[in-house]
Amino acid sequence: MSYFTDEPEHIALLRQTIKRFVDAEMPRELVRQWDREHRSPPELFRKLADLGVCGLTVDEEYGGQGRDLVAAVAVIEELARRGGAAVGPFIHCTFYGGINISENGSEEQKRELLPKLARGELLFAYGLTEPDVGGDLASVKTSCVRTDDGKKLIINGSKRWCTGAEFAHYIYCLVRTGPEEARYKNLSFVLIPKGTAGVSLHPIDHINIRYTLSSDVVFEDAEISSDMIVGGEAGWQTGWNMLAGEALDVEKLEITAYTLGVACAAVEDAWQYAQERVQFGKPISGHQAVRHELVEARTKLQACRHMLYHATWLANERRPCSVETSMAKLFVADTSVEIALICQRVMGAYGLCGEYDMERYVRDLLGMPIVGGSSNMQKNNIANRLGLRA
Ligand SMILES: Cc1cc2nc3c(=O)[nH]c(=O)nc-3n(C[C@H](O)[C@H](O)[C@H](O)COP(=O)(O)OP(=O)(O)OC[C@H]3O[C@@H](n4cnc5c(N)ncnc54)[C@H](O)[C@@H]3O)c2cc1C
Repeated sequence: MSYFTDEPEHIALLRQTIKRFVDAEMPRELVRQWDREHRSPPELFRKLADLGVCGLTVDEEYGGQGRDLVAAVAVIEELARRGGAAVGPFIHCTFYGGINISENGSEEQKRELLPKLARGELLFAYGLTEPDVGGDLASVKTSCVRTDDGKKLIINGSKRWCTGAEFAHYIYCLVRTGPEEARYKNLSFVLIPKGTAGVSLHPIDHINIRYTLSSDVVFEDAEISSDMIVGGEAGWQTGWNMLAGEALDVEKLEITAYTLGVACAAVEDAWQYAQERVQFGKPISGHQAVRHELVEARTKLQACRHMLYHATWLANERRPCSVETSMAKLFVADTSVEIALICQRVMGAYGLCGEYDMERYVRDLLGMPIVGGSSNMQKNNIANRLGLRA
């Protein structure tokens, strides 16, 4: 049995709905302009949320449509085919917010936040990476100290590459809550509400994923309520368990679906271009070298699709899937770079200019083996989980 060959009808219908949304609300020229400007219009996400799709990672009990990861991943794939403008905020709401609060939030936090997330009213940003901490997240330094009465938390330090910090209602932030010597211990997640005094944002310029800015976020005696500890009191000092838990397995799926969507767009555009561009008296798709490259790209894409949806199906069933989600992230990210470069080559000079979308696809895909846990980190995870002797 394969998920992919038997896509349920409700997913196929959902894809059609998203395709109609994309055609109506995300014309190519506007998507290019938003990418140039590092932004996406808030009203675009509002219209997407009005379709009811933000509840796909939230249980019905908390106002969602019931956790359907395959549907959420299909939405990401379809949106990403056009560009990051709508898919970015969708991920910040449904995965950064919906999945993390569903998996790790206290009952109170679930009742407070999940209904709003399901309606698309809240966006989260991730505060994991720091200036001196990339893949090695157990080494985060940003400190979080409780006041004597235990009611407040004081945060000092800085996070780097915090995508969407300027539009997020909360930064889902990994902080050190005890001495650094105790590796994997003394870490917690806290929610930093928008507008907290002592928090400043400093945008970084970058070539990929430009639906918003990524920022350095600096905390100088930033004070938040201890109600903001993710998981409530029981969540204090359990940050590493949350990071290594089910939420992270699921997390790898969103960036992989984003990658697949962009790679699909690259293949579709190159495929069409090759049939229209005439050189030496025939469409370039008639030249065997180009023909073979296009087929190679499409075959790689098919393999990516199988990897992603198999891992998603396992995660949706709540079966063990840490290895499969890492394999999907690794394979799809690395293979999509190969796909992008093939498709760009097929379009010749036009794969490099701003009048076409190919140069954006390439910029976005080049970053995918780095963001969301680098390819090497996925290899380490797979080797460790499979017990490969070190
Ligand atoms: C556009 C963009 C958006 C981002 N958004 C966010 C965000 O919203 N929130 C957030 O927290 N972070 C975000 N990031 C950060 C991203 O997740 C990190 O860049 C990523 O985790 C890698 O960290 P690093 O770049 O510091 O690389 P490093 O960890 O310094 O690694 C550099 C290289 O060395 C390799 N390497 C390091 N250690 C090992 C090892 N033990 N074994 C093998 N190889 C190793 C890595 O694979 C990599 O190739 C974003 C990054 C970008 C570019």
